[in-house]
Amino acid sequence: MDTRPSFDSICATAGEDVPSATRPLVAPIYQTSVFDVESLELVDELYEGRAQGYIYSRDANPNVAILEQVMARLEGGEDAVACASGMAAIGMTLLALLKAGDHVVAASELYGGTSTLLQRHLTRYSVTTELVDITDLDAVQRALSRRPALLFVESISNPLLKVTDLEAIGEMAQRSGARLVVDNTLATPLLLRPLGLGADVVIHSATKFLGGHSDVTGGVTVASAGLAASIRQAVRLWGATLDPFAAWLTVRGVRTLSLRMERACANALEVARFLSDQPAVKQVFYPGLPGHPQHSLASRLLNGGFGSMVSFELSGGGEAASAFVKSVKLVRFAPSLGDTRTTLSHPARTSHRSLSPEERQAAGIGDGLVRLSCGIEAASDIIGDMEQALKAL
Ligand SMILES: *Cc1c(COP(=O)(O)O)cnc(C)c1O
Repeated sequence: MDTRPSFDSICATAGEDVPSATRPLVAPIYQTSVFDVESLELVDELYEGRAQGYIYSRDANPNVAILEQVMARLEGGEDAVACASGMAAIGMTLLALLKAGDHVVAASELYGGTSTLLQRHLTRYSVTTELVDITDLDAVQRALSRRPALLFVESISNPLLKVTDLEAIGEMAQRSGARLVVDNTLATPLLLRPLGLGADVVIHSATKFLGGHSDVTGGVTVASAGLAASIRQAVRLWGATLDPFAAWLTVRGVRTLSLRMERACANALEVARFLSDQPAVKQVFYPGLPGHPQHSLASRLLNGGFGSMVSFELSGGGEAASAFVKSVKLVRFAPSLGDTRTTLSHPARTSHRSLSPEERQAAGIGDGLVRLSCGIEAASDIIGDMEQALKAL
């Protein structure tokens, strides 16, 4: 009998790994949904943790594990769990940490998706949410006295860039027994590591600064080994797994995180100072400016920069914002953040679109508000572009 595989079998088995005496310096992309396990004994060893290895990529994958390990180290946590998006990381964390009947206290200024998830979706699972002004520590203390299971905050808020006093709030949450969950997307672990200040869980949208090039969607949660195990189980069962290629791209982004953040923060400070002197600009929101309400807190809490986001209110309102978006050239309108290039967004038309004009006004988000995510270009080019666009108003 001819034992050579047939044409059909050669096709069907294509893609097996090749033997090599050398190892790749950079982990390859393990674009495989399943692993080849040589014996049933090994299956037992893998499930019982006596052997290190992978079986099925929804449960675990080497590229995803590499990202998780580097994020646990950068945030100073015991373990990390990567997810399909920042919202998946937030959703899986809330599902793992909450049960029906639980009460949540959350900052009133939150990423739109988080706020909708808490206020319109988790209510279906009998989880109630109360919003507080996170800069009002007395209000936070009063809310914590109602014994919430969880307190959800962003370290730097979006779009008005309020800085959360994690030193005070971490201690208050610990005393009340509420688990403190911090969305650290805007600060990144370079500027702030919330676990050292009493946070139980830190979450990132990896789509932003970790990936850093607007070419990947992902999320990561960092926590103690025990909490991470519960979150990991939720990710596996609800199937919110990160794709190997997305994990690989994110790790590639992380390699330059500190260089990108340092430059972007320096650019943001220069841009914020420039905007402060412009007659067409009514107000600038940037924690690095002495006039920002939490400037001294930000100087104490944030390490080596005040973030790369700058928001500003144009005196001419919504019409001026429209004209500004059309006039910028180097800077592009793109409703995300954390890219190597400078992008801008218009919160009233994008992230806060679902609020009524009255709600937006109460939140301080006017039609003239523009949110800038400074990139790593030369500061003079960003400022030059802003200058010509402001002149055109
Ligand atoms: C973008 C963002 C999210 C959501 O992340 P996705 O990756 O888009 O799901 C959550 N929190 C903050 C602060 C964000 O900027």
